[in-house]
Amino acid sequence: MNTIICNADHPINSIGSYLKNYFGRKTIKLSLDGGFTCPNRDGTKGTGGCIFCSADGSGDFASDIPGQIKLLSDKWPDSNHLAYFQNHTNTYAPVSELREKYYSVLKDPNISGLAIATRPDCLSEEIYELLDEINKKTFLWVELGLQTIHEETAELINRCYPLELYEQAVKRLEKLQIRTVVHLIFGLPGESKRDMLESVKYVCRDSVFGLKMHMLNVVKGSQMEKLYPDYVSFRSIEEYVQLVVDALEIIPSEITIHRMSADAPRPILISPEWSYQKRTILNGIHKELKKRNSWQGKKYLPPASSPST
Ligand code: SF4
Repeated sequence: MNTIICNADHPINSIGSYLKNYFGRKTIKLSLDGGFTCPNRDGTKGTGGCIFCSADGSGDFASDIPGQIKLLSDKWPDSNHLAYFQNHTNTYAPVSELREKYYSVLKDPNISGLAIATRPDCLSEEIYELLDEINKKTFLWVELGLQTIHEETAELINRCYPLELYEQAVKRLEKLQIRTVVHLIFGLPGESKRDMLESVKYVCRDSVFGLKMHMLNVVKGSQMEKLYPDYVSFRSIEEYVQLVVDALEIIPSEITIHRMSADAPRPILISPEWSYQKRTILNGIHKELKKRNSWQGKKYLPPASSPST
């Protein structure tokens, strides 16, 4: 964990600031499609995928490294880059193939490290060994798609693995001192605000490096579109902002915040229709923190001193 402590002047420990401090300059994640698939789509664990997942495996912006650097070069000509294996499940392949793919990217002089998004049930002993080896050589984080701690919701969204597997993976990654980022989704069908904040509180019990959280978007091509075509996770930006600020207040300030809103491309976005307004949402979160004279971790209670819920 890093040592930044949040306060009124620095209310959120964002991954952007962390990477800038760590590498000494602006560092951008380049979203890659490593050509992986997902056990939740090919029938190994499930079919159809998690119900919110788009046909592209929740990586609708992914493309190649030179293409992305070119696109970003006008805005950030001197930036540093991490390769982000984002599409589908990026440890779901034989370890020899993973080794080849990860190292082929790391050979690129434009790349300073890796971010790998995966599922806790796709981390074998051999894969942990490979990740350990890479972690000792370069900057690495592993992102685990948890979405919720509640088993009933996990079943409803067709996640197809139990919370127990997440716990095992987090502990193992922690033991190997590999940075772990946990992905949570707010507004899943059937979940109350209390359920969502319980998920936040739960994942903060472990020494995770980062949290990625955002509202549920209903997108074209997902199971959500067929099963819940009229579903809207949050009725307004204001309602969503209140929840995110409540969450930030109970997240320890050492945990880096990787995302607070979702990036669904407008052509495939169904609801909430306002969710593409990223700047407005982020401004709303900062405004609300200011109004409350609050910041990330202000209400955090370490597990031992937390009142039982
Ligand atoms: S969200 Fe991840 S685990 Fe779920 S179907 Fe999509 S790629 Fe697979």
